[in-house]
Amino acid sequence: MATLAKRKVQNSPGQVYVDSSCIDCETCRILASDIFGEDQTGSFVKKQPETESEKFQALQALVACPTASIGTEDRIDLGEAKASFPRQIQDEVYHCGFHSKDSFGAFSYLILREEGNVLVDSPRYIPSLSEKIKNLGGIKYHFLTHRDDIADHEKFHTDFGTQRIIHEGDLSALPNAEIVIKGREPFSLEKDLLIIPGPGHTRGHSTLLYKHKFLFSGDHLAFDPKKERLIAFRGACWYSWEEQTKSMQDLENYNFEWLLPGHGHPAHTDRKRMSEMLRSCVLWMQKR
Ligand code: SF4
Repeated sequence: MATLAKRKVQNSPGQVYVDSSCIDCETCRILASDIFGEDQTGSFVKKQPETESEKFQALQALVACPTASIGTEDRIDLGEAKASFPRQIQDEVYHCGFHSKDSFGAFSYLILREEGNVLVDSPRYIPSLSEKIKNLGGIKYHFLTHRDDIADHEKFHTDFGTQRIIHEGDLSALPNAEIVIKGREPFSLEKDLLIIPGPGHTRGHSTLLYKHKFLFSGDHLAFDPKKERLIAFRGACWYSWEEQTKSMQDLENYNFEWLLPGHGHPAHTDRKRMSEMLRSCVLWMQKR
């Protein structure tokens, strides 16, 4: 829980603050970009929320923060902010909120489908979130993009009997997975759910393409909103940059409009522009 004693000096004076336990995961700056800024120490409140919308966004960031590093001077009811997750992104795709410290604050997502819902990577387990997901139809599949973002998979498995999916290259992190993806060939889980192995960031990293519209990219591919380009994290490539570059080339065989990464901003544009950005990303990676 955030404490006033650890309040960062960079915070703008007022109700909301960030304390020194921030791990700089970027979540608050994505959810409430007008309120939270960054410097070399991580996040801080650059402007106190004023409008009702800003106040609500700040509270959503507070409940999503993986390290409980955001606090308020007065005791404020967080019920509405908690209840706002999972929050809709588009169509039947939702952001789970409640980021986990165990996955360095990575985003996780929920796809609502009549044939069974899919959880992508893992939020922090919160009983109220689990209850909400239960009311939305539970979880059939729990797709884990890679070993670093599995967080509370066991608790969701206990609640929902999920079928956990991971690639064999990262199986040592989740040896009791119910479905193991093998090799480099894409795997059609069900209609509209295509798992695309993409080693590089880790040996067993995979992405999930839903309806040829949403790509859940884990730590394989991200978006830089300042430069409006797709990027990969050279400094956080734990297995092989060469392999990751080849995997990125493989992705050029697919079309999508939404990029939903584990870390960083989501990106939405038309398929042509997304393809162009992906091509530029591959060319950039080949030169690194
Ligand atoms: S969400 Fe929390 S840990 Fe992440 S950058 Fe913001 S204050 Fe720091």
